[in-house]
Amino acid sequence: MMASCDKKLVRSKSGLKIVALNENLNSPFTISEPKWIPDNECPRCMNCDAKFDFLKRRHHCRRCGKCFCSECCTAKISLPRMCFVDPVRQCAKCTQISAREGEFFEKHLKTLQNGSSFHINSTSLPEPDDNASMSFLCKMSKDQRFLLFECQSDMCPEHSPIEVSHIDSVQILSTDLLPTGNKAATGLSLSYKDCDATQHRLEMICPENSQKRQSMLWLAAMQKAMKMLTENKETMAMISSLSEEK
Ligand SMILES: [Zn+2]
Ligand SMILES: [Zn+2]
Repeated sequence: MMASCDKKLVRSKSGLKIVALNENLNSPFTISEPKWIPDNECPRCMNCDAKFDFLKRRHHCRRCGKCFCSECCTAKISLPRMCFVDPVRQCAKCTQISAREGEFFEKHLKTLQNGSSFHINSTSLPEPDDNASMSFLCKMSKDQRFLLFECQSDMCPEHSPIEVSHIDSVQILSTDLLPTGNKAATGLSLSYKDCDATQHRLEMICPENSQKRQSMLWLAAMQKAMKMLTENKETMAMISSLSEEK
């Protein structure tokens, strides 16, 4: 794999990684490597309880940093969120999580980056005049850091990019209860801070045309992306509260 000029290869004890030169330019989906549990603090496999000795060797899961025997930590699977170039050893629980995320990176991320059409209402846009078309092609940037808005007509105002890590919440908008007892999704509402830390709200409404299906898929992918990012924030908060207790 060739490193582009704004990335570098680094070696961690878990393997070779490719990261941005400036860590602020890393993808918002990036997570940091866990601290490994020291060998002297885990005499037994943390899954099957087998005692470690010179035949039963310990292995650390690269994702959670816990200790396992080789049977409980066999899988080597890719872990793009920690920027590893090659697949790395993971425990059964982490393998499941990484496999689910692998699906996101292979499939849903492409949907987000290809983009889809939405009708936009945004507190960061001027009041629409009657002639204005608020139809935008919305997509995630290649470096995964921004949502971009491309005007789909001359009458369209410009909408500045939204930094993905500045999105606080995402809510699916839906119709009232239908006779079937279900609600149909109509769009997405997200709140975010712009570069001046001003809070904004943006509504992305699916168009009622041939593009609707694509837009619904985009929304579903965006929800998955946000779920990963919130889990990130929760873990970070948990880690910082733990280190404060010490
Ligand atoms: Zn085991
Ligand atoms: Zn693990």
